[in-house]
Amino acid sequence: MGLQGTSTAEWFERAGKVLVGGVSSGFRYWGPDDTMVIDRGEGAYVWDMDGKRYIDYQLGFGPIVLGHAEPSVVDAVVAAAKSGTTFAMTTAGEVEAAEKVQASVGYVEAMRFTNTGTEATMHAVRLARAVTGRDLVLKFEGCYHGAHDYVLFSTPGGPTDGLGSRRSPMPLQASSGIPAAIGPLVRTAPFNDIEAVARILADEGRSVAAILVEPALGNCFGIYPAPGFLEGLRDLATEHGCVLVFDEVKTGFRFALGGAEEVFGVAPDIGTFAKSMGNGFPVAAIGGRREVLDAWSEGGIVQAGTYSGNGIAAAAVSATIDVLSTGEPHARIDKVGRLLMEGLAAVCADRGVPAHVIGHPAMFGLVFSDEPPADFRDTADHDAGLYETVIRAMVRRGVMPNDDGLEPWFVSAAHTEEDAATTLQAFQEALEEALG
Ligand code: PLP
Repeated sequence: MGLQGTSTAEWFERAGKVLVGGVSSGFRYWGPDDTMVIDRGEGAYVWDMDGKRYIDYQLGFGPIVLGHAEPSVVDAVVAAAKSGTTFAMTTAGEVEAAEKVQASVGYVEAMRFTNTGTEATMHAVRLARAVTGRDLVLKFEGCYHGAHDYVLFSTPGGPTDGLGSRRSPMPLQASSGIPAAIGPLVRTAPFNDIEAVARILADEGRSVAAILVEPALGNCFGIYPAPGFLEGLRDLATEHGCVLVFDEVKTGFRFALGGAEEVFGVAPDIGTFAKSMGNGFPVAAIGGRREVLDAWSEGGIVQAGTYSGNGIAAAAVSATIDVLSTGEPHARIDKVGRLLMEGLAAVCADRGVPAHVIGHPAMFGLVFSDEPPADFRDTADHDAGLYETVIRAMVRRGVMPNDDGLEPWFVSAAHTEEDAATTLQAFQEALEEALG
């Protein structure tokens, strides 16, 4: 039995006649009878086309930090739309939004807006190459940095057995259509393996433009950096003259107002932001050390975007940061997130199922394995089949995390303790059902 009700199934059939596979992003496809068509969202909930309500832990793959359709953000966006949205010039709203980003994130001395995380990491890579005069990018297995050619290597979702040995990892191309010339420009290392990074840099440090990393793995169970790992990257990047880029598309404005630096105490040269910065409106940014970013104003390095910093995006950023700055949303997320993490672990322990709940209360992973994973390779031990069966049984009960365990659970400020209790009850029932 699929997850779609009658009306949702009809809409999905209609979607398939116009949208390829019925979706506008490949990651949204759950299969012919299980892909959802959503009618609306409010707070912590979404409703499908049959009017069925779900407690939402996908939150649009992470952006919804305050809750769906947060009134103050919606009002700000509506007001901005009435004043015109896209001009071939800087706007006051854009300046105000940038000031708020800068005031929030300690290491952002200067910045520019883009529209998506993909654009932000693409520009970060080009900028790092331009300022260093080097070509190589060092990225980590299990990190996803968007859909452009330079970063689609050893991403989550691919097989872990094609990654080569830990001593000499092989960048694994994640998509057809990437020119063969790109692969040789990429180096990969297991996350949390500072020795592997040191070895690569000892060999080729003079050719590495950027060390690109998600400070916590937002696309792989929310795996945390081991103590000293981010500090080690900072030191190695400085030693070898590489630009350290934190991809904060998922961690930024979600873990804390100040993002990864506030939580882990390490600052990169550049950070890329998107998702929670605008509570679901399309907006992204690249920010960091002025010395690096000012290269854009010296000329010769292309950074552009018709819609970058548009009125709607700027209004969404300002309104979202205004609410986040009170501190209340992150306090609520922390409380409910912890309840969920502890509760899920307790249910598994009671049932004798080996499991680990890892990561940050705002973005955590549930891993069915004997040992907690420290990197993408370790996730091969996770019982993905059991996870998918449990999650689908939860979706039938009106609770909706993503059914791919690699994608963490996201918690918003709109989730309540009651939602957490309902979720844990649904999880207990779903686990029983799955175990038979
Ligand atoms: N970087 C990270 C860490 C992401 O999780 C994503 C998307 O999930 C991206 C970049 C790409 O962002 P977008 O989908 O907005 O292009």
